[in-house]
Amino acid sequence: MNIHEYQAKKILEEYGAPVSKGIVVFSLNELDEKIKKLKIGEFVVKAQIHAGGRGKGGGIKLVKNVDELSIQAKKMFGMKLITPQTGPGGKEVKRIYIEEASDISKELYLSCLIDRESSKITFISSTEGGMDIEKVASETPEKIITNKIDFKNDIETDEIEKIIKIFSFNSEQKIIANKLIKALYKILIEKDASLIEINPLIITKDERIVCLDAKMNFDDNALFRRPEILQLRDLNEEEPAEIEASKYDLAYIKLNGSIGCMVNGAGLAMATMDIIKLYGKEPANFLDVGGGATKEKVSAAFKLILSDKNVKGILINIFGGIMRCDVIAQGVLDVAKETNLSVPLVVRLAGTNFKEGKKILDNSGLKILSAIDLNDAAKKIVEAIK
Ligand code: GDP
Ligand code: MG
Repeated sequence: MNIHEYQAKKILEEYGAPVSKGIVVFSLNELDEKIKKLKIGEFVVKAQIHAGGRGKGGGIKLVKNVDELSIQAKKMFGMKLITPQTGPGGKEVKRIYIEEASDISKELYLSCLIDRESSKITFISSTEGGMDIEKVASETPEKIITNKIDFKNDIETDEIEKIIKIFSFNSEQKIIANKLIKALYKILIEKDASLIEINPLIITKDERIVCLDAKMNFDDNALFRRPEILQLRDLNEEEPAEIEASKYDLAYIKLNGSIGCMVNGAGLAMATMDIIKLYGKEPANFLDVGGGATKEKVSAAFKLILSDKNVKGILINIFGGIMRCDVIAQGVLDVAKETNLSVPLVVRLAGTNFKEGKKILDNSGLKILSAIDLNDAAKKIVEAIK
């Protein structure tokens, strides 16, 4: 789960990391009252959406005074912000964060994440922070330093030294940086964050260190024990279909392709997506209906797939273990009739009661193609949508 910049900064502040003073506004009429909490001067107006690259899309604006601030805030509320990370549709801005502006002398990069491969906490630091960090990563990767740290109660001083070495901080800055690294390490563990990214971490003209931007991502599987984090969830930022899927306990992720997939088991779902790509098409989603799916679940899954306008064909790939193929087939049939299914549907059933399942589909009177294995299924659906 992702959270907004202003929420991430609040957590950083709680852990003793340096952030600027700011206010979040949910509508224009809150602005006049809330702005009194900030020092009069220059402000930065920041669109709060769950995507980076806001600066490039016009979602970060420096303003000189309260009048300019009102104008800018008015423009920003409700705008469809398109950034390199939002996709072409953009995201509607519903919350704005206003900060006392900083005078920047240098933009640095610092992040901290769980590295699954080594099972360690990894810190990434670079002197080339700011809006072009992706370019730095691809063109001059030697400017990006990685340090892997074991899980333990506290990160050690010599480890912190290594992480911040490239920044060449003076002794006062080092004290703050020490606190910052400790804060990131603690947040990662105590809040089950999987990624914290400070880009840019800045040195101001008066030589202070400030976290100017903050992105945090949390492990969904740990949210049950972090109610204070779950409370920060912003459903506006999530794919409506994914929210719907979570109600039925379906593992669904929307993708950009044209073939909708309904599969049981994450491994089989991955294999199905792979084989669709092998035959030259892209999957419209990842969808794992799980081992013990009921007819209702299958029906919900089917409707989810059909709600995606990009879907030109559907591939159902089910291995009946605990789940019986005839139950699946009946579920599919009911929804196909109910929704007047208009796109090609290929079904591959294997395992428990697959013969009964196949019979139900074959006798349905609907145009459903059955396939004998994965290859056959992928070939048929790709062919069918041509
Ligand atoms: P992002 O584009 O979504 O990553 O948003 P950021 O919060 O990182 O802001 C983008 C850029 O705006 C930063 O890299 C800075 O160059 C600039 N910026 C943000 N806040 C301030 C500020 O307080 N003062 C100045 N001068 N620039 C800022
Ligand atoms: Mg940034």
